[in-house]
Amino acid sequence: MFGQMMSQPLLISSLIDHAARYHAGTEVVSVETTGGITRSTWGGIAANARRLASALEALGLQRSDRCATIAWNNRRHLEIYFGVSGAGLVCHTINPRLFPEQLVYIITHAEDRVLFFDRTFLPLVKSLRDKLPCVEHFVLLGPPEQEAATEFPGLVFYDDLVASGDDGYVWPVFDENLASSLCYTSGTTGNPKGVLYSHRSTMLHAFGANLPDTIGLRARDTVLPVVPMFHVNAWGSPYAAAMVGARVVLPGPDLDGDSLIALVDGEHVTVALGVPTIWQGLIAAARRHGSHMESLARTIIGGSACPPVMIETFRAEFGVEVIHAWGMTEMSPLGSANHLLAKHLAMPPEMQAERRLSQGRPPFGVEFRITGDAGEVLPDDGTTQGDLEVRGLWVLDSYFRQDAGSALRDGWFATGDVATLDGDGFMTIRDRSKDIIKSGGEWISSVELENIAVAHPGLADAAVVGVRHPKWDERPLLVAVAAEGAGPTSEEVIAFFDGKIASWQKPDAVVFVEALPRNATGKVLKNRLREEYADILAGPA
Ligand code: ADP
Repeated sequence: MFGQMMSQPLLISSLIDHAARYHAGTEVVSVETTGGITRSTWGGIAANARRLASALEALGLQRSDRCATIAWNNRRHLEIYFGVSGAGLVCHTINPRLFPEQLVYIITHAEDRVLFFDRTFLPLVKSLRDKLPCVEHFVLLGPPEQEAATEFPGLVFYDDLVASGDDGYVWPVFDENLASSLCYTSGTTGNPKGVLYSHRSTMLHAFGANLPDTIGLRARDTVLPVVPMFHVNAWGSPYAAAMVGARVVLPGPDLDGDSLIALVDGEHVTVALGVPTIWQGLIAAARRHGSHMESLARTIIGGSACPPVMIETFRAEFGVEVIHAWGMTEMSPLGSANHLLAKHLAMPPEMQAERRLSQGRPPFGVEFRITGDAGEVLPDDGTTQGDLEVRGLWVLDSYFRQDAGSALRDGWFATGDVATLDGDGFMTIRDRSKDIIKSGGEWISSVELENIAVAHPGLADAAVVGVRHPKWDERPLLVAVAAEGAGPTSEEVIAFFDGKIASWQKPDAVVFVEALPRNATGKVLKNRLREEYADILAGPA
């Protein structure tokens, strides 16, 4: 015999088995939709996941059938993650903030047979029910209650369903390439597209996420995923946490600064994950309450560019390390994370701060390259900008049920982002390719201007878009929200860019608004701003 190693498929059920076996007593804290905090453990989550899996089989669900969730980050949702995928079914998480027509489109396109939803969404689901003939079982995430049962004939209650299941259920073993979960991209244009993850890609992503230079969770961590579980699987944090048996705090529906700071301090959170807008609220609340975020060691910030002032505030004022990360639904989502190298630690603080603005380096399992207009590969010199393309172990090949087939060109996936890469692999997003401002043949990064704008003490929020200009084709327009009690003039704001950027890159004008329009995942709807202000610099007709 030549000899060989064991062959075991990479299955999500092995994560929850591991957490239950070696971290059974580690807490999973959950803020419930109906208020209050409940405490479970990895052992409890695993037992309920097995009961749920057996109950779903008893309902007649077959391999790869889709089970949808419209739910906050809470204990039952976590059980569904493991129970549904573990049973060989597909866990399809849905963003509740989508328009009703998009929800109907997505559920119908996915052919979801089961729809689990939180109490909050009872009115929404009730209003959609007639348009969702594919859904056979509507399951409310909670104990049985008369009022809901009367209001919604045929409604199943999660706690009943789980109680009917068998906690001696044995996880099925199947090919690791079987689909485990499904997420649709937010789709600012056209219909949302589904990204179907496999057990293998999810497991490898969890390993990648737990590398020390990415998120690197440990058993001794308490993790707070503020990023929703309907937003690319909370960036994979539930799987990564189970893999190491970290303590988990699920924040429920209220993601305002006051609620979050109470959780961070009250539950001694060490690692938190979320988009920049969430942390603005948290920082403001911490200041109001005099909190020093004592326990918090690091925050993983991504989804859109993290403003430099936020990185600095976390570091200098609260002693919290910011890990600036980049990714997308098509990448499960982790593409890169910023940790400085040894050589950077010897640099003066300003240079280190400058390095931290990059979206970081890809972990093992992901590769980057940048290409030009003709598809030619551009140099990794830190200054040449190009279209960022990726490939790797947890990157999409083709969208769910799309006739177009593979979305790759040459084996690479085009992200739609414009970036620079340096020789160490540090990637800096300059813009979404559709958001970059083309002024007289030169490119201006809207992200760079936004980063400067939000450092102005009189501004709370800012977005920059390119609008039509009679001479330069496009010029930058700053759409800004004044900070509470402040009222800077346009001239003051534009002067603030002096010396920070070449003068031809400064915004031409500033419009003040009450709030920026954002999509369901917190990204600014720049196409709406572009339409609204299209002619603001066009001059007299
Ligand atoms: P996610 O749901 O993870 O936000 P999406 O697929 O909705 O993923 O959006 C991905 C896009 O978000 C990226 O292509 C990029 O334009 C933007 N993005 C994500 N993280 C960052 C970041 N750290 N800096 C700048 N842009 C980011």
